[in-house]
Amino acid sequence: MSRERLGQGAKTAREIVAGDDAELPVRPQSLDDFIGQSQVRENLRIFISAARERAEALDHVLFYGPPGLGKTTLAQIVARELGAGFRATSGPVIARAGDLAALLTNLEPRDVLFIDEIHRLNPAVEEVLYPAMEDFQLDLIIGEGPMARSVRIDLPPFTLVGATTRSDLMTTPLRERFGIPLRLNFYPADDMERIVRRGARALSVPLADDGAKEIAKRARGTPRVAGRLLRRIRDFAAVAGAASIDSRTADAALTRLEIDQRGLDGMDLRYLRTIAIDYAGGPVGVETIAAALSEPRDSIEEIIEPFLIQQALVQRTPRGRLLTPQAFAHLGLKVPKGAQLDLLRRSGDADDEGGGAGDV
Ligand code: ADP
Repeated sequence: MSRERLGQGAKTAREIVAGDDAELPVRPQSLDDFIGQSQVRENLRIFISAARERAEALDHVLFYGPPGLGKTTLAQIVARELGAGFRATSGPVIARAGDLAALLTNLEPRDVLFIDEIHRLNPAVEEVLYPAMEDFQLDLIIGEGPMARSVRIDLPPFTLVGATTRSDLMTTPLRERFGIPLRLNFYPADDMERIVRRGARALSVPLADDGAKEIAKRARGTPRVAGRLLRRIRDFAAVAGAASIDSRTADAALTRLEIDQRGLDGMDLRYLRTIAIDYAGGPVGVETIAAALSEPRDSIEEIIEPFLIQQALVQRTPRGRLLTPQAFAHLGLKVPKGAQLDLLRRSGDADDEGGGAGDV
């Protein structure tokens, strides 16, 4: 079964979203330079300037939201605006408590330590992180068996910036230790348009107004996707000999990339069609969908579903995923007889399925 997304061969959705070539060439460098997410930006501005005034480390910050919305970029901006050092790592990379200890003891006062995918920290590492975050102390066990002893090391005051696409998978004690939790949302069309223009300038791609609008509309509300589309469209435009990218050039390229009018790509459509056609609109468990699409469950939950849910094409219910009438309309399909789309009948359902009974 094909795993193509944007024609990039047999990569999983996660690999493609994580891919380097997806990045816009220049990340925004300051809060002023960062487009959109105004509430997040304004909150950060206040907390950063207060921390600077008091000459203290900023409280720990957690950025959560779908991939590609700017969590890493903002973490770097926080360090820069604080005038502090920046160190980056990621949850799965910190295998042992000793690895974390090495990172923490090498920090300078008020430095920012960025941990991406923080929901994937090993529990033993997480235990060591709690007192480090709360009291800037490290409790380590040195040696083994009867010789083991515990040592306490004082750490410089630092700011932990965590990022996660799945705050629901974080343990409560970890989540509660972040004084500043900030949610990033998909970008509305006007912000996307500014992001596309900025990306085009950085790539030196001549872009007409209607071309920027067209790309912005079809970039899944995600700056990383906008960057990837710009690069691909630039290639198509160059081969076609177009002097600048207008809406027609953009539309032709996007259509070849199998990005539809709403910004859904081949994978999104496969996901929707599978539920619509094979499961009569659902409800169907996420494990079943993952098997049908040959995609890991977490890619489906982290990458594909958040945008489709935000677009009101899919709902999560305790019994599984359920398509909305809008999804059938978008696919140009009739709602099948007996499809369980009647929202009133499901009024008792919670909005999260978790791994519940729907997972057949
Ligand atoms: P995340 O860490 O949430 O996956 P990143 O911070 O790596 O996302 O951002 C992905 C790409 O999108 C980067 O190339 C970044 O420069 C760009 N980007 C993200 N947010 C913005 C924004 N608000 N304005 C302009 N570019 C952005």
